[in-house]
Amino acid sequence: MCKAAYLHVPFCQDICAYCDFFRCRYHVGLAEKWLAAMAKELTIKKLSPLTTMYIGGGTPSALQPHQLETLLSLLVPYTKEVNEYTIEANVESLTDEKLDICQRYGVNRISLGVQSLQPSLLNQMHRHHTSEDVLACIKRIHAHGIHNISIDMIYGLPKQSLAMWEEDLHTIVSSFPIQHISLYGLTIEPHSEFGRQGIQNIDEDIEADMYDLAITLLQQYGFQQYEISNFAKPKYASLHNQVYWRYEDFYGIGCGASGKDKRGRYENTRNLETYLQQGASSVYEKLDTKAQMFEMIMMSLRMKQGISRQAFFERFGKDISEVYGSIIEKQKEKGLLLVDEEKIWASERGFHLLNDVLVEFLGDDEAHG
Ligand code: SF4
Repeated sequence: MCKAAYLHVPFCQDICAYCDFFRCRYHVGLAEKWLAAMAKELTIKKLSPLTTMYIGGGTPSALQPHQLETLLSLLVPYTKEVNEYTIEANVESLTDEKLDICQRYGVNRISLGVQSLQPSLLNQMHRHHTSEDVLACIKRIHAHGIHNISIDMIYGLPKQSLAMWEEDLHTIVSSFPIQHISLYGLTIEPHSEFGRQGIQNIDEDIEADMYDLAITLLQQYGFQQYEISNFAKPKYASLHNQVYWRYEDFYGIGCGASGKDKRGRYENTRNLETYLQQGASSVYEKLDTKAQMFEMIMMSLRMKQGISRQAFFERFGKDISEVYGSIIEKQKEKGLLLVDEEKIWASERGFHLLNDVLVEFLGDDEAHG
C-alpha cells in the first residue's frame, strides 16, 4: 500500500533558461481548469492515508492563494496523518497569505528554489531574487511556524566559477537558518533555452571540483550527506525522498507526475489538454523481478546508508546475497562496497565510482536464472 504521494503542479510564473522539466507559464483560467481535473483524479484514485506528501512542480507557489487553498483542501482526507508535508516554492511568489494557508493545512516543510545567489547568474537564468530576498523569505517561513526548510542549489552553470560557488555555499551555511540542501549538477538539455542558444556544459573537472567542494564545506557546517546530492542537519533528511531511494511505492498525481507500485511504474500524461479533458491517462510500464531488483539496488546505493537486507528480502522473498553474492564480494574486495549483517553500502570511493559499481549489478544475468 502506498503511503507517499507526489503531486505535480505544472505552472511557473517565468521559465528558467536551464529548465527542461514539464511545466508551462501560469495562467489563472488554466489553473482553475487544472484544479477541477485534479479534483476528479483524486476522486478516481482513492488514495490510502499518507505519511509523506510532496507537492512539486513547476512552482506550486505560483498558484493564487485561493487556488492553493483549494488544492490543499482537496488533499485533506489523505494528509491527516502525514509526518512530512512538503511544498516547493520560489522566493518571489511565497507570500505571507500563502504561508498562512500552508500552515493551516499542515504543510511542515518548504523546499525553496534558490539555485544561486550571484546576480549575474540569476539574471542569466531569468530568476529575479537577491540574496537578501532569500534570507527574508526563510525568516518569514520560520515566522509561520514551518521550521524544516530545504533549498535547491545548482552548480555547473555557464560562467559560474568555483569561487562564486564557494561564496554562495558559505553565505548559505553561515547565514541562512535552513536544515536541508539539495544540489543539482546542471546538464544542458537541448530543449531548454540554454540548449537552444548552443551553450555548452562546463568542463567536467570543474564541475567535479564544485561537487567535492560542496561536500567538504557542507559537512564542516553540520550538513550530513545522506544521499549523493542531498545534505541535511541531523534528523532533517527528507522522509519523502527516502521513499524513492528505498524503492518503496508512491502515488503520482497530476499532469506530468509518475508513480510506482509493486508491479512497475506509471507516468501520467504530460499533455495538459489531454489531462484537462481525459484525466491522468497514465501509461503503465510493468517491470520484471530482475529489473526491480536492479532498480532497488541502483536507488538504495545512492544513500549513504545503502540497501537494507531486510527490505530487499521483504520485497523479493530472497536474500540479497543469494542473488548478488558474487558481485557484492567482488566489489567488497575492490574496496567499493561495505557489508554488514543489516545492510550493504558504498564506501567513500564506491560512492564516487557508483556508476562502475552499478554496471556490475546490471551485467549479472546468471543470478536470476
Ligand atoms: S526550473 Fe523550476 S521554476 Fe524554473 S521554469 Fe523550470 S519548473 Fe519552473
